[in-house]
Amino acid sequence: MIRLMRRAECLLCGKKRTAPVPGWNTSRGITSEGKPWPTAGALTFCSACGLTQKNTGLLWRRQTARIYKTYAPYYQSGGKEQRVFDTGRGSLTTRSAALLGRLRRHLPGSAAAEALDIGCGNGSLLRNLRRSFPSWNLYGADRTRRYDRELRTRWGVRRVYHGEAANINRTFDAVFMLHVLEHARRPVAFLNSVKKLIKPGGMLFIQIPDLTANPVDLVIFDHCTHWTRSHITALLAQSGWHIRVITNRWVPREISIIAAPAPTSQARGRVPGAARHSKRLHQQIAWLGRLKAQAQALCGKGPLGIFGTSNAGTWLATEIGRGVEFFVDEDADRIGKRHLRKLIVGPHDLKRGQNVLMALPPPLASRIARRLKASGVKARLIQPPPV
Ligand SMILES: [Zn+2]
Repeated sequence: MIRLMRRAECLLCGKKRTAPVPGWNTSRGITSEGKPWPTAGALTFCSACGLTQKNTGLLWRRQTARIYKTYAPYYQSGGKEQRVFDTGRGSLTTRSAALLGRLRRHLPGSAAAEALDIGCGNGSLLRNLRRSFPSWNLYGADRTRRYDRELRTRWGVRRVYHGEAANINRTFDAVFMLHVLEHARRPVAFLNSVKKLIKPGGMLFIQIPDLTANPVDLVIFDHCTHWTRSHITALLAQSGWHIRVITNRWVPREISIIAAPAPTSQARGRVPGAARHSKRLHQQIAWLGRLKAQAQALCGKGPLGIFGTSNAGTWLATEIGRGVEFFVDEDADRIGKRHLRKLIVGPHDLKRGQNVLMALPPPLASRIARRLKASGVKARLIQPPPV
């Protein structure tokens, strides 16, 4: 018992002030690729800096290794990158293409720029970089070697690195790190080691889930840190980076950051107001419970569809089990396929009177429902409870 009571060091501030989050029960989880997972992990909260995190003990490390062994990005669409609604273009486009549109004016101007994508997976971003910048020298880094050949031969990626970022012996004008930091058990040391990869005048681009905009991030088992804007700001200061741009407006529910190595070492990053973060965390956990209760109640009133086949929809469907009849998704690469053995239909296949629960955080759910209604969708698009 004494061993269990020992407090782990906070993954951000390093203080032994983490404790299990009361009220976090044995909810089912999902993996970051959006597959069901038997547990959501042991959630802890640091009372010194207010970072919500997972207990990354042996159990978490073993299970995470199992998740990564068969990791299949965008498995719902046979590996094709997820499409999102790009408000800039007013149409559906891939996540990477939408992001590059926003990022473009901040990227290196050189026609022969050297770029590295850390956590490149099956190459969603590298493919889009190749299309936008045909003469750039592209490099990738990832755990898996599964996609190396295709990335090199088809997309002209010069090399795919494996192992520690610290062992990469080359420098770059731009380093990309999309959905990587939330998996790192030592984010401060990791970001420190990335500094030496940046050429003078070069940049680092980071994208991470924004916990404040998406409570479902909490149930993703292999996400060991759950970031807010103030926590990521502290992390970057602590690991010696200067932030040029930080915004949550480029991709919904994500924080996008452009940073460069700081000229001199900065004071340790400080995060004010742990109490405020604790209060929000408890509201978010309560919301997950209310969303589940709402879905269960709707299941008793006839066939229920869930909008979305990514993280939130998958989590909710596994939580309520048999009650879900079908999924709804706007992504043409997913429509007509099956997810968790249920059919995925498009919004325009829906009939009047069908019930569809918008399994998304409220502001996004109402934005999408308004847009779908305006385009003539007939079904009852049911809003989630307020957070
Ligand atoms: Zn802390």
